[in-house]
Amino acid sequence: MKWQATDEKAVVLIVDDASVNVRALQHILKDEYHIKTASGGVEALACIAQEPNLDLILLDVSMPDIGGYDLCKKLKDDPKTADIPIIFLTGKDSSADEEHGLSLGAVDYITKPIRPVIVKARIKTHVTLKRQYDLLRAMATRDALTGLYNRHYLSDALKGKISQAICSETPLSLMIIDIDHFKQVNDTYGHLVGDIVLTSVAKVLLEQVRADDIAARFGGEEFVVVLENCGVHDACIKAEKIRSIIENLHPEGIRVSASFGVVQLSHHINRSSKLLNHADKALYQAKESGRNKVVVCREKTSKVSRTLG
Ligand code: GH3
Ligand code: MG
Ligand code: MG
Repeated sequence: MKWQATDEKAVVLIVDDASVNVRALQHILKDEYHIKTASGGVEALACIAQEPNLDLILLDVSMPDIGGYDLCKKLKDDPKTADIPIIFLTGKDSSADEEHGLSLGAVDYITKPIRPVIVKARIKTHVTLKRQYDLLRAMATRDALTGLYNRHYLSDALKGKISQAICSETPLSLMIIDIDHFKQVNDTYGHLVGDIVLTSVAKVLLEQVRADDIAARFGGEEFVVVLENCGVHDACIKAEKIRSIIENLHPEGIRVSASFGVVQLSHHINRSSKLLNHADKALYQAKESGRNKVVVCREKTSKVSRTLG
């Protein structure tokens, strides 16, 4: 999902087993959109998996492998693909067919033969709506300065990650990262340079976390990273790596460091508020004991201990 308005051409996937239709649609749409094509449901699924920025699918109904209705249902049932608008483009022109297609979650239903002006107009409407929706969602979930997730998103998503980890009995760790003496950066170099430092640190976090992890801006110069399927040992190694990268970053030629508090989900530390509290206590210890270091919360002793850095 894009988190800023974009002028890039929208990406449209045409799925039809009749190559003559694919070619005709390609011809009509090629100037305004990036076009991907698939000659059946299986090929379409492979294409969708590879194309994270898909803006719309133009879908035939009668196809030999996976039919359009089944493909539509499959895509709408999967949270990763549910928001991609689907327009059926089909020879099936009865009201019952149209009702069925729309009931499966398609945004529109166009009947063949292909009428270029109608097809273009309807695609344009739904691509515009999709882009506006993406932008609104991004504005609601992202921090405007850094592009990381915001605190509001984090509190919802963390609860989901915790339930998932408990259900699947897989480890989950969380780290709080706070830039050291950041007030001095602002005071010495000005707020705008401070903003550049924040953006540079955020970029490191984005680069270092996996796709399913969460990197969020928690407050002014405080960040939270949630590491899925990751125990505290690996989380500390990751934290130390990030700490070291930040120490060597020198954004705008300024020496910057950060302190880290790390905690793992456990029987006792089993809610988002507890994870954040314990990570915060470990962070406090990191600050108290000299900054620029990683401190882990050890649950059994309920104490924190310095690990690395
Ligand atoms: P410590 O090492 O104890 O964390 O000290 P610190 O100076 O980093 O912590 P403190 O909480 O005293 O100061 C944080 C500063 O971060 C103060 C605030 O003005 C600044 N800040 C918060 N949000 C932003 C922002 O969006 N941009 C900039 N440039 N500064 C910000
Ligand atoms: Mg700070
Ligand atoms: Mg702070």
